[in-house]
Amino acid sequence: MSQAPVNAEQVNGRPRSPRVVIIGAGFGGIAAAIELRRHGFEKLTILDAAPAIGGTWFYNSYPGAACDVPSHLYSYSYEQRRGWSRFCSPRQEILSYLEEVAREYGIDGLVRSARRVSECGFDPERSVWEVKTEAGERYESDALVLATGQLNRPHVPTLPGRERFTGHSFHSARWDHDYDLRGKRVAVIGTGASAVQFVPAIAPHVARLTVYQRTGNWMLPRENRLYPTWFRRAIASVPGLQLLRRRWIFDYCESLTLAIRHPRTVGSVFGLRSSMFMRSQLPDPELRAKVWPDYTFGCKRVLFSSYYLPALGRPNVELVTEPIAEVTESGLRTSDGLDREFDCIIWSTGFRASEFMAPMRVRGLDGLELHGVWEDGPHAHLGLTVPGFPSMFLMYGPNTNTSGGSIIVYLEAQASYIRQALVEVRERGSRRLDVRPEVEAASDRATQAQFQGTAWTDCDSWYRDSDGRIVANWPGYMREYLERTQTFDPSEFVFT
Ligand code: NAP
Repeated sequence: MSQAPVNAEQVNGRPRSPRVVIIGAGFGGIAAAIELRRHGFEKLTILDAAPAIGGTWFYNSYPGAACDVPSHLYSYSYEQRRGWSRFCSPRQEILSYLEEVAREYGIDGLVRSARRVSECGFDPERSVWEVKTEAGERYESDALVLATGQLNRPHVPTLPGRERFTGHSFHSARWDHDYDLRGKRVAVIGTGASAVQFVPAIAPHVARLTVYQRTGNWMLPRENRLYPTWFRRAIASVPGLQLLRRRWIFDYCESLTLAIRHPRTVGSVFGLRSSMFMRSQLPDPELRAKVWPDYTFGCKRVLFSSYYLPALGRPNVELVTEPIAEVTESGLRTSDGLDREFDCIIWSTGFRASEFMAPMRVRGLDGLELHGVWEDGPHAHLGLTVPGFPSMFLMYGPNTNTSGGSIIVYLEAQASYIRQALVEVRERGSRRLDVRPEVEAASDRATQAQFQGTAWTDCDSWYRDSDGRIVANWPGYMREYLERTQTFDPSEFVFT
């Protein structure tokens, strides 16, 4: 099923409107498609393994799923909504928003769902990317955008005896809605951003809930009540108020990054705020001691919930901090030898974040394999381009995650950068572009150096790869990433 170039207009033997295959129909892929379409790129195909669009918002359907980044910023700048129901929208509202935007911009028709890409290979003779799906379909394109995200492959740790458990189990990012948790004895392993959202949602309904925590978290309040009518009316009718609110949220998010970048000054003020909040939520000193984090504020993702800590204090909820030694047939055994029996284990153990693009095989020039190039940890110029992989762009690639901001801000910047790059290729009549290795190496060094002295370096987290290099996060502010990506610099690339 290859797409033949149909545009008769040619520049140096290349079609004026190059074919672009985008892998991933989440916020990133849709942003890229909107941006490219607006600038005359008509031959776009979006492939996604899921049966529908939405990416992370399609897969993460756990009870209580919502974004902890306020919607006025967690939305495209050019598609602002005035009717958000809450400060941080629930999952269904975000998913509906994305579907609506995709429809409005005619992007939904470009999406080919249920296509899991197994391999992408670059043919240097023809300067063409060949994309294969697991089902054996083939697509060809002049440029390739990998928008598969960092958090799409659930991680289930290989605890001894895992396969022995005879009860029910699932990962929080693949919630089993057919399984009725009511009246069940449930174990939750992991206490990250996902768990703090669904633990309070399920705790009132299960018979017994045991939460296994390996590391405590710094927390800040988030009540997330429905917006009052007067507020919604004001946002809808007062000119500039929506924009002002977005600006305020942007600045608040940047202040969180400021705290992470300066852990001993601004960070300690934020840490104090978090301590006061957590103390107020944890009257029981024993529970407080168990929950209390033992690392610098902001090193791991700060969690926002006003409901999680109180849920731990419920009579049917137990917090276990003893490490899990093994999974048994009927439950979990901790290292103190204590067995607890469960009907269901929910793995809320995060994602294989540092294994970018796995298990997809990506082959560039001279037989280069992306996973080979990234043997010592993933890296890319501005998280976007890798030498030896011509006209290939990553979205939400290495070092572009944010602990403080909205990923949509980054994705929009990346979409614009990719568009500028492809316009440059088109205008020059080139066949392809490839980032200069020395540019990519220098930008990686600069990124890594920028982590020095920040809270991110003070503990272990999913932001690091197996060698400890921080590969997930951008080390600076949203503002800085916008500045760095605002204008595509052709001198950093070789055009062929
Ligand atoms: P996560 O933050 O990576 O949390 C995984 C949890 O599992 C951690 O508590 C971790 O403990 C624990 N864990 C991992 N392996 C374990 C093992 N072998 N034994 C015991 N515990 C283990 O995953 P997540 O909660 O799914 O969130 C991932 C990311 O998704 C977030 O950081 C965030 O970026 C994004 N997210 C965002 C939102 C939002 O509202 N915007 C909501 C949910 C998720 P340790 O801390 O000790 O490693």
